[in-house]
Order: sequence, then structure tokens, then C-alpha cells
Amino acid sequence: IKPIHIVGGGMAGSEATWQAANAGVPVILHEMRGVKGTDAHQTDKLAELVCSNSFRSDDHTSNAVGVLHEEMRRANGLIISTAAEHQVPAGSALAVDREGFAEAVTAKLEAHPNVTIVREEITGIPPEDWDSVIIATGPLTSIALAEAIHAHTGEDDLAFFDAIAPIVYFDSIDMNKAWRQSRYDKPGPGGDTAAYINCPLSEEQYNAFIDALIAGEKTEFRDWEKDTPYFEGCLPIEVMAERGRETLRFGPMKPVGLTNPHQPDVKAHAIVQLRQDNALGTLWNMVGFQTKLKYGAQTDIFRMIPGLEKAEFARLGGIHRNTFLNSPKLLDAQLRMKSMPRLRFAGQVTGVEGYVESAAMGLLAGRFAAAERLGRTLDAPPPTTALGALVTHITGGHLEGKQTFQPMNVNFGLFPDIEDFPKKDENGKRLRGKAKGRAKKGAQAARALQDIDGWLAA
Ligand code: FAD
Repeated sequence: IKPIHIVGGGMAGSEATWQAANAGVPVILHEMRGVKGTDAHQTDKLAELVCSNSFRSDDHTSNAVGVLHEEMRRANGLIISTAAEHQVPAGSALAVDREGFAEAVTAKLEAHPNVTIVREEITGIPPEDWDSVIIATGPLTSIALAEAIHAHTGEDDLAFFDAIAPIVYFDSIDMNKAWRQSRYDKPGPGGDTAAYINCPLSEEQYNAFIDALIAGEKTEFRDWEKDTPYFEGCLPIEVMAERGRETLRFGPMKPVGLTNPHQPDVKAHAIVQLRQDNALGTLWNMVGFQTKLKYGAQTDIFRMIPGLEKAEFARLGGIHRNTFLNSPKLLDAQLRMKSMPRLRFAGQVTGVEGYVESAAMGLLAGRFAAAERLGRTLDAPPPTTALGALVTHITGGHLEGKQTFQPMNVNFGLFPDIEDFPKKDENGKRLRGKAKGRAKKGAQAARALQDIDGWLAA
């Protein structure tokens, strides 16, 4: 059997190697650390955790990342099982001893009879005789390889930074204050003239908001982030606010072309717009609101916006060095590059975010590539599972492609809705608010685990 080549031995590449090798396919894993470092990794061990040592919640009954853990466990995941072997106390979270963890992953792959590890940097599109390749080079993909991919995909389809606007759960927006309308009622591709959700601010509310933005606690760019080429100056909102009180009112908070149906006679001084972020309509991003504010400051300040007082965030804003593809446009459901199907991508470079999500995409890419090599077809897991929800999001569930596609953690907003969940408590009282949300998540979690078992059995 011809080998599969996997480039990058981080979270995704290590998991992909394990899955393909266990399916009986030889794998050559190319990892540059050992001969060339990155700006964040400290060692030459595979699956090194670059920052926190936490894989987040391990609760698979009501937490989306916990469900993903459990699915990966059931799929014989290397990262998740090794994490359990090197666990340190962290309440309901799964945290690890990072050195023991990375050493164990490295040892397991080195000992695997189907795995060969080569320490080298891959500096261009891999040669044609590598007919099955998984590129899992992560957020800090070396510049030479990133440039080669950039040249192949074109200017707009490989980002070097993420400029993330916060994403809000639709359920948590107060539609008694906000309303749906496109600016000047301009119809979108489907003729929709109410594509956006609008939140109005009075002059007083706007001024208070600007003051809070300027005073809010921020995180700094690291030196090596400032040095990275291609930072195209997607300005954080707080920097815009510092440039002048009116700057945001002429930028992302322009109040023109919109009429508030709740108060048609009152002209809003500024308006925040949210744009639908996933096909399900459960997630909405705050347009133009990329920010370096600290997370705590973001929730406090964004909840000052009328309509968002009780906003719950699927993710908060940020700006970081991060190499990632415009996957909804470039990749098919098997994580293959449409224009060059011998190349698959996995990990953070596909537009997922986080150690677990990156490893999860490695798990799928490894299985897809192995199945293909063995002449079998393997469909993606159903979108009701955490693995399926993530891969669907990055390869097709996300709505508008390059304008708004930004890396995302797994969350229940990516799962299809569910109607079948308990609506009353044990005393027959109707569940509301958070209790209702918990019951729904519980049902989504149970459905996911049932469906992943079906997929694994098939
Ligand atoms: P990586 O784990 O980075 O693996 C990529 C591998 O590819 C590396 O080993 C690299 O050396 C290798 N490589 C790169 N280019 C080449 C090449 N040309 N040839 C050969 N090998 C190459 N996520 C969290 O969940 N929690 C956190 O606390 C967290 N902190 C982060 C901090 C920083 C500074 C960064 C940049 C990211 C952080 N992330 C965090 C996000 C992300 O989840 C991790 O970066 C995760 O490791 C991504 O997994 P990956 O497999 O896609 O990439």
C-alpha cells in the first residue's frame, strides 16, 4: 500500500497519523520541529500544547466540547485517550501534564509499525507523486509553505491573521429592541431584504459605549505577531474609537438606511448590525466588531448595546496570528482541496479553533484518507454529531464564505435544532430560560452520541 504523507505533527497531524496507521495504511509524518521551530512551540515533541494545558469541559451530557471528547474517545482517538492517561486535577475540565502528554503521543507514534517520522520542513506544494497528503501545519504554518498555498489559492483565500468579530446566539438577542432589516432594504442573493439584525443606540448610549471601549482592558499584540507579513490592518473597534468619537458612527455603527419599527419616529444615533453566521440561523456575528479587548471587558461592554443586554456569546472577538483557509469555498466534505484533491487539510488551518477541534479534524482527515487509500468510501459523520457539526460548518454550513468565515470552537449553535426534549421538570412545571436551555443541550448531546455510534458501526 502506498503511504499517506502527513505534514505537521501537532494536534491534528498526530491524530490523523494514528487513525490512518490503525486502519492499516502506512504513514510518513513530516514534522519540522527538531530542525526548525515555530514562534510558539518550545520543544520538538509531537502534539505540544502551545499555551493552556486544558482540553476544556469533559462533560458529555450538556457541553459541546465534552460531547466532542466522548465521540473521539469512542473513535479510539489518540489525543483524547493520551490526555486521560496524563490528566491533572481541573474540576470538570480535562487538563493534562503537558510534558507527559506530548512525550506519550510521540512515543506511541514512534512505536507504531505503520508510522515513519521525518524531521523536515515542507516548503512548497508537495510533489505530485505524493498522491495522498494531509496538511496539518496549524496556525503557525511556516511562511514558505503558507506562501506556496497562498499562491495556489489566491489572495483572499488564505488568511494570516484572524480578526474575529464576536458571535452571539440568536436566542439571546432581545428582538423587542432589535429588528431585522437590510440597509436601504437592499435585497440579498435570495431576495431577502431583512438579512441583518439591527440594534439601535441613542446619542447618550453611544457616548457611554465609546467611553467604555476606550477605557476597556485590552490585550497587546506580541512582538512576533507585529512582525508577520500580510497584516492588512483590520482595525480593532477600540482603535477606531480612539481615533475619534465619530469614527465608528461612520464605520461599522453607521445609522443610515435603517428604520426601527419599534420606534419609527426616533432616529437612532448609531446602529450595530449582526449578520447571520451559520446556515441554521442560530449564530450571528457583530459586523466589523473585531477587537483586542479582554474577554471580560467584551461581555460587559457589548451588553451595553440595546438588544444585547442578555447576549450569550458563542465566541468572543480577537485578532491573532493564524493561518487558515477559506474552507467553505476551498474544501469538499472529505476535507480535500477541490482544486487539488490529492491534498487534504486538517486542524486549525481548516478554520476550527482549539486543541480538541484541531485533533477532531485530524481524526476525520486520517480516516477519510485511509478509507480512500483502501478503496472504500467513508461519508462524514452526521451533522447531529459534534464531529459532523464541525466538519459541516467548515465545509458548507457556514453562510457567506470569505467575508465572515472565522475560526470557531465547537458549540451547540452548530448542531441542528431539536424539538424532542423534556419541556417540564419533575413537578410538571414548565422549564424556562437556562433550565430549558440545559434540557435542550442534554437532548442534543444524547442524540450526538447515539448518532456517532451509528456512524462508527457503519
Ligand atoms: P499545531 O498543533 O500547531 O501543529 C502544527 C505542526 O505543524 C507543528 O508541530 C509545526 O511545527 C508543524 N509545521 C508547521 N509548518 C510546517 C512545515 N512547513 N513543514 C513541516 N511541519 C510544519 N488552543 C487551545 O485550545 N488552547 C490554547 O490555550 C491555545 N493557545 C494558543 C496559543 C497560540 C500562541 C496559538 C498560535 C494557538 C493557540 N491555540 C490554542 C489554538 C490551536 O488550537 C492550537 O494552536 C493547536 O495546536 C492547533 O492544532 P494544529 O494541529 O492545527 O496545529
